[in-house]
Amino acid sequence: MQYNTNMKVGDFMVVGIVGGGASGMSAAITAAQELDNQIILFERQARVGKKLAATGNGRCNLSNIHACERGYHGMDVSFSQSALSCYPPDETLSWFGSLGLFTVTEDSGKVYPYSDQANSVVDVLRFALDKPNIQLRTGFEVTKIKKHQDGFLIKNSEESVYCDKLIVAAGGLAGTKLGGTMAGYNLLRSLGHQVTKLRPSLVQLKSRWHGVSGLKGVRAACTARIIHDGKQIACSTGELQFTEYGLSGPVIFEISRDACQEKGEWSCVLDFLPNHSEEQLYTELSKRRSTALSADELLTGILHNRLGRVLVQTAGIAFSTPISQLSDEALRGVCGMVKGLDVAITEPLGMDSAQVTAGGICTDEFDPQTLESRLVPGLFACGEVLDVDGDCGGYNLQWAWSSGRLAGYNAGRN
Ligand SMILES: Cc1cc2nc3c(=O)[nH]c(=O)nc-3n(C[C@H](O)[C@H](O)[C@H](O)COP(=O)(O)OP(=O)(O)OC[C@H]3O[C@@H](n4cnc5c(N)ncnc54)[C@H](O)[C@@H]3O)c2cc1C
Repeated sequence: MQYNTNMKVGDFMVVGIVGGGASGMSAAITAAQELDNQIILFERQARVGKKLAATGNGRCNLSNIHACERGYHGMDVSFSQSALSCYPPDETLSWFGSLGLFTVTEDSGKVYPYSDQANSVVDVLRFALDKPNIQLRTGFEVTKIKKHQDGFLIKNSEESVYCDKLIVAAGGLAGTKLGGTMAGYNLLRSLGHQVTKLRPSLVQLKSRWHGVSGLKGVRAACTARIIHDGKQIACSTGELQFTEYGLSGPVIFEISRDACQEKGEWSCVLDFLPNHSEEQLYTELSKRRSTALSADELLTGILHNRLGRVLVQTAGIAFSTPISQLSDEALRGVCGMVKGLDVAITEPLGMDSAQVTAGGICTDEFDPQTLESRLVPGLFACGEVLDVDGDCGGYNLQWAWSSGRLAGYNAGRN
């Protein structure tokens, strides 16, 4: 059945949803549980869930059992609490179970589909959308929304579709090639809402430090601190990965939202042995003076070989120098590199490479209990378009499911 009309028809309630991503699909499935509702899901791309299919390197880290308000950021850090307590991670996993998805929870709390394929998540959602009261309008790019009578007119370049309630689930700007756009922000702006400053998060940091390119591909456990003009801005411990341009990996993603926000000197200070003191390392390296090894082996057995050599070199020591001839000062210099390598950073990579957008539609303009706009009755928003971004490790998709279902439930109530 098509509800292609610019006027309200019949007694049923039409819920329009802009965006067929994670939050939009979960909103549609939830709103459709009320069988008198007719749901129209508008997706500008040829199919729903395109970004979702690429998440977690194709594995989709769909949740984290530890996800709670503390793992989320934005102007109002408590905004996510209501949606997360209505639809917490364990309930989300039961919901996915009811849709037919088997999942695995790692010791870290990260949840993946048992198949290890993001497509499985997209598929069960697609099957759940296959209901008589849900209409999928793929290839429909919403360009304008107009308040009309008691509802809204959803427009593309060719037609207008009326709906009584409207959910904007158009996502953020991150992952541009996978569908990230400004559209959701602009549509909500046109209805009177405001947008906070947008910036990439969960993203690599660029560096001009000469050692970076030689370490491309090297992974190391570390504590990473973001320093701005001598002041610590953020800190995290976890896995680091060196790339051609700079620093990547979960530990960097975690602190990237706070990097390079203002002018000044920015650096990332890396401690490659967070569980050992500088003194303990110095004692160990001093023992090595009794060997016949040369300086390029000074950190062998402690760090990744390539990383160890670059640190020795950065401390100004020639590889061929016998360790037995290294002065106390030289050993202290190497300890300093291991415990506090200071890598100047220039900027985060752009929105193309980011996993999530920090910033978004001002959350104080929405009721956290229902996700309904305080400015425009009948209008709801969910997912990344709102000023909520989560930590690395399944937090962002958990927000998409929880907020999508909360918005779907409330928009679907007559
Ligand atoms: C490469 C990558 C990997 C990621 N991996 C993970 C992970 O493993 N775990 C995790 O928790 N998070 C991950 N994320 C983040 C997560 O994917 C997003 O936070 C989440 O998808 C946001 O859901 P959403 O529904 O708000 O937006 P989206 O999933 O982006 O969906 C928005 C949809 O709206 C559509 N749309 C936009 N404008 C319009 C319009 N005008 N008309 C019609 N349709 C429109 C878009 O095409 C899109 O399909 C990853 C992100 C990226 C980019």
